[in-house]
This record gives sequence, structure tokens and C-alpha cells, in this order.
Amino acid sequence: MRLPQSAIELMHREQLEYLRDWQRQAYEAGLVGCDYPQASGGGGRSHCQRIANQEMQRAGRPFLPNILGLGMAAPTLQIHGNDFQRETLLPRLFSCADIWCQGFSEPGAGSDLANVQTRAERHGDGWRITGHKVWTSLAHFADWMILLARTDRERKYQGMTYFVVPISANLDETVRVRPLIKITGETGFNEVFFDGLEIPDHYRVGEIGQGWEVAQTTLLHERGGGPMVTPSSGHGGTPERALGDAYALLDLARRTPRGAGTAADDPVLRDRIMQLIIRQEGSKQGARRARVPALCDHPMRLALQPKLVMSEIRQDVCALAMEIQGAAASLSIGDAHAPDGGEWTLGYLNSYGVTIAAGSNEIQRNILGERVLGLAKSK
Ligand SMILES: Cc1cc2nc3c(=O)[nH]c(=O)nc-3n(C[C@H](O)[C@H](O)[C@H](O)COP(=O)(O)OP(=O)(O)OC[C@H]3O[C@@H](n4cnc5c(N)ncnc54)[C@H](O)[C@@H]3O)c2cc1C
Repeated sequence: MRLPQSAIELMHREQLEYLRDWQRQAYEAGLVGCDYPQASGGGGRSHCQRIANQEMQRAGRPFLPNILGLGMAAPTLQIHGNDFQRETLLPRLFSCADIWCQGFSEPGAGSDLANVQTRAERHGDGWRITGHKVWTSLAHFADWMILLARTDRERKYQGMTYFVVPISANLDETVRVRPLIKITGETGFNEVFFDGLEIPDHYRVGEIGQGWEVAQTTLLHERGGGPMVTPSSGHGGTPERALGDAYALLDLARRTPRGAGTAADDPVLRDRIMQLIIRQEGSKQGARRARVPALCDHPMRLALQPKLVMSEIRQDVCALAMEIQGAAASLSIGDAHAPDGGEWTLGYLNSYGVTIAAGSNEIQRNILGERVLGLAKSK
């Protein structure tokens, strides 16, 4: 069975079940959620997740499929959630019994996230949710969603509240999920429509009107800068190295025939590959510096950079792979003659999304410029 290149390209239940089983085994072996308290289903340790990640990576294991749950929902619920959310939902999230998705973006609320219009209205002791989310990765398999909704129309930032909402249990009743097809022909993200979904009050995360503050914890972790380390592992479509890894270009160049030799004989190409490897290593070291408290005078200075820099390196790596493959790069998945099974071509097309996902890079630069460097606000 071919695996997708990342969790947000999961399309078939067979792929999901294979990877779900892997996450369950990793959790049972103590490799997932190790730094969370035992009461939340974690390992009750500290500073272990990063080591577990390295070991899983080194062993060449596939990726963990509950990426949005592990990377965003779990730290947010651990920091802001109530006992039910931590003690009942988190163990099932870690073991992958439940898949999670993130319902933040809407047709009119992407970069301007504070413009969310999905309503949460008081209904008895609980809430009723009505609205439309978009670009919701993994919603087609999700059991739960972290949701940012409007509880007060008069106030923009203080008018939002954060919830967890059950998706799969209410499908085709008050929740409808419609897959969106990407340039690659894959799905992965979806539109999600809420038509009066009723939820109890203990599904609310944080206080009423504090959704924006709670969402900042989610966003900081989504961009790689939060205090909880995300369990992560391995590979998708490509078996040897994670796609987009600059070192994989060396191997590709050595295997690609050019004249009487290979593409790796070209000194200019070798130089371009080295430039990408240097940028990649620099970014990795930058991420390590972000863990030194004395260097973090502003909480976002180094924390925001991994997503910004690595997403651009990934695009450049995939583009150079296309160049190395030449005309053969026009062949993709399913073509018997496609180099590396067409994974680079697919990765190149998917790489356009990585500078948009988790907040576009233009917005990340605005945040760094305005909030960290104190430059004038963009119009
Ligand atoms: C692969 C992928 C997966 C995603 N998964 C999820 C998910 O699971 N859940 C979820 O909630 N969302 C998800 N998203 C949505 C993502 O968060 C939004 O696409 C992103 O925040 C941009 O919002 P938008 O698409 O509405 O673009 P817009 O906000 O309309 O922006 C359009 C363009 O204008 C630029 N722009 C806008 N405002 C400014 C400004 N002030 N200064 C400079 N430039 C600006 C942007 O950079 C962008 O280039 C996903 C997106 C992608 C690509």
C-alpha cells in the first residue's frame, strides 16, 4: 500500500487504519505524549518527546496520522482545558482512537482569523453551533474538531470562544463534510458545515470571550514554537528521507543519468544543493536556539521561524528536484516510468500549500516585523 506524503493527504480508510495502528503501538510503547501528565494519558516525563521523535525518525517509521490533534489540540487542551477534556479526550487522542481536525479558517476568515462568523449561541445549558469552515484538513476522517466560534457580534477579539466539537457522531445530521480536491487530484482538506450542532457547556475551552487567547496557544504550536513538543515521526510516500529534505537531492542527483555520467557531476548543481543543505542546517540550529530561554527575549522571535523558513526551503528543494529530473518530472504517481514513483512531482505540487497553511508566510513576516521588531503596522 502506498502511503500519502503527510497526514493531511490521507485519502483512503486503508491508509488511515494502517497509520492509526502504528500510532496506537507507538503510544503503547511510550513514544507518544511522553511529556504530558499521566492523568492526561501521557507518560508523566519531561523533555522526552524530542528524543522519542528522533528515535522514531531514525528507525524510518511512517508519520503519526493524528497530526492536528497531537500538534494543536493536545497542547491547547492541556494548557486551557477542563478535567473532562484532559482526562477523557487526551488519552484517546494520543492512542489515535479519535482523529482530530482544526476548524479555524472560514471563507472570510483566513489571514484575518479574528473575522470568524461561525456562531455559537446559548441553548439551554449548552451551545448550538451554526456556520461554515473551510480548508479543514482531515475532517473527512475526524471524530473531533477544535473550533473557534463567535459568541458576541459586537466585539471582534473578545467576541470569540473556543470549543471542542464531535464531528463523526453528528455526520449528515447537523454536521456536513465536503472534501475539496487539490491541484494534485488528492483531497485532504474539506469544507465543514454546521447546521445547529448542539453541544454541552463542558465542551467549551477557556472562558466565554477568551477564544482568541486560547487560539494563540494553538497557533504557536502549529507554527512550531509552543512549549509542548509535538510527537512526530517519519515518512510518507518516500521511504528513505522525509520529502523536502535537502539531503535527498544529493541522492537524487547521483541516480539521475546526465550525458555519460550523472547529474551529480555538474559542479553548479552540486553547489545549489549545498546551498539548500546549508539553509536547512541553519534552520535546524535556529530551532535549537529557540529552546535556549536566554535567547528568547520575545516569545515569537525564534519560535515563529521554523515554519516560515522550513516551508520555503521545502518549496525550493522540491523545485530543484524537478529541475534535476528534467522532462521526467512531468510524470507523476501511477506512471510506471516516473522517477521515484512520481513522489517528487506530487511533493512539488503539494509544496505550494506549505507556505499558506498555518497562516501564510506573508502574515508570519508581518507578525515578526510588527510585534517582534516593532516596525510600522502594514495597512
Ligand atoms: C494545505 C493547507 C491545509 C490547511 N489546513 C487547515 C486546517 O486544517 N484548518 C484550518 O482552519 N485552516 C487550514 N488551512 C487554511 C489556512 O490557515 C489559510 O489558508 C491561511 O490562513 C490563509 O488564509 P486564506 O486562504 O483565507 O487566504 P487570504 O487570507 O485570503 O490571503 C490571500 C493572500 O493574501 C495575503 N495577505 C492577506 N492579508 C495580508 C496582509 N495583511 N499582509 C500581507 N499579505 C496578506 C496572504 O498572505 C495570501 O497570500 C489550510 C491551508 C492549507 C494551504
